[in-house]
Amino acid sequence: MERRGKVILVGAGPGDPGLLTLRGREALSQAEVVVYDRLVGPAILAMMPEKAEKIDVGKEASHHKVPQWQINQILLDKALEGKVVVRLKGGDPFVFGRGGEELELLVEHGIEFEEVPGITSAIAASAYAGIPVTHRDFCSSLHIITGHARAGAELSIDFEALVRTKGTLVFLMGVTAMPKIVEGLLQAGMDPDMPAAMVESGTTPAQRRCDATLSTLPERAAAMGIHSPAIIIVGKVCALAKDFCWFDKRPLHGEKILVTRPKERAGTLSDKLRALGADVVEYPCIETVPIVPCPEMERALGQIQAYQWLVFTSPAGVEAFWECLRGMGKDARHLGAVRLAAIGSGTARALAGHGLTADLIPSVYDAAHLGAELAEQADGRVLILRAEIGSPALTEALEKGNMSYDDIPVYRTVYENPRSEELRRMLEDGEVTYVTFTSASTVKGFVSSVGEEADFSKITGLCIGEQTAAEARKHGIAVRIAQKATIDALVDLALAL
Ligand code: SAH
Repeated sequence: MERRGKVILVGAGPGDPGLLTLRGREALSQAEVVVYDRLVGPAILAMMPEKAEKIDVGKEASHHKVPQWQINQILLDKALEGKVVVRLKGGDPFVFGRGGEELELLVEHGIEFEEVPGITSAIAASAYAGIPVTHRDFCSSLHIITGHARAGAELSIDFEALVRTKGTLVFLMGVTAMPKIVEGLLQAGMDPDMPAAMVESGTTPAQRRCDATLSTLPERAAAMGIHSPAIIIVGKVCALAKDFCWFDKRPLHGEKILVTRPKERAGTLSDKLRALGADVVEYPCIETVPIVPCPEMERALGQIQAYQWLVFTSPAGVEAFWECLRGMGKDARHLGAVRLAAIGSGTARALAGHGLTADLIPSVYDAAHLGAELAEQADGRVLILRAEIGSPALTEALEKGNMSYDDIPVYRTVYENPRSEELRRMLEDGEVTYVTFTSASTVKGFVSSVGEEADFSKITGLCIGEQTAAEARKHGIAVRIAQKATIDALVDLALAL
């Protein structure tokens, strides 16, 4: 049977990736084609499945990049090809998002569709600026109005009717027409001292709020150079912003932090830093690739009884080991009495993910302590499954304790250079002040991506562990070292800046 495609209209919210709904994220993860707009933030674009076809139909203010009829046609064509198409739009698709227009052609052709609402900028940008769009003491209605006039035409807004409502007025697409909107409201009899505000790039790290009254808004906004995308809010509730603003008060607000974790594991650290207000740029400059097949590991696991300890120094090592074990048709029972050591809590968690408990986690999460504390406890042979180029500190400590060991590389680290040009510019402009490094290989990946000769004098590396810091210093990067080798300690370090 011919497969019929489907279109899912998804509202991406106004910018903060945390404002994408769970249903929206689920739909996005299933997409074979994503058709997206200019107003969808980079962190949400990064969630698009790697294999999905990505079509940018981003609109520029007056010269539409892809005309609406053509967008409608793309959605139809891709659905007819049998694809699951996600149409990703800023804010809510049905709030001045032309969602309705895009559905018409699909309905005509009997294409299956869904609409996943998003959080509209009208409400979210206000909320992030400390303006509740309604408050019982001040208003009893909320009105969302477009400030965009059709080409060559005057604004068609009934200002008198709006003024009569005494409700909160939120204008979208109104930056250019703002002076005219103000004039219209004043002429319709609104109090010139009515509180008013504009919120630019709401819910993103670049958010700015302009506080004014109706009569001072044009001058204030011009002085601040407020530009699109921005909303205009008019109403008594705007006066609450001075008490309710919270977004710019978060501890890391205004800091741009580059997170260089491996692609697979950027999530938690980025989320935590973002929640504290940082402008996080994810830069996954390394990737770990298991060595497959890995005859050395298979041989060692085949005679696992010969070892007293099995040692892991990263979650990637745990995963490579587990895959190998499965490939041999074995499971956890095969390990028998062998004891397990993990370099830190992240690696221990990776073991726990397979129902395995680490018997030893060193008091300080680094290779030297792991080796020394193993040497104290162990008297049999040790099997180390780790990266191709592992830290010598581990084996040195074992040798010092007269331990015998096998050190088997089970994955390799591949450096990626996805956006080196952009990164180099950000470093040169002093735009990025902090870069997180969770291992020496993230430092190497970062440096190889930007280029050895780049100027690292303007950045400070926030490092997990002495070895990571040593690698950073080698390249002239100033460093701060987390108290403990955990993500939380790294976050604490950022907070202490
Ligand atoms: N469907 C969208 C609106 C699209 S019209 C929604 O529900 O939000 C585009 C207008 O939305 C812009 O001109 C601006 O007024 C507003 N807008 C979108 N994102 C915004 C943001 N992050 N901050 C402020 N205004 C935004």
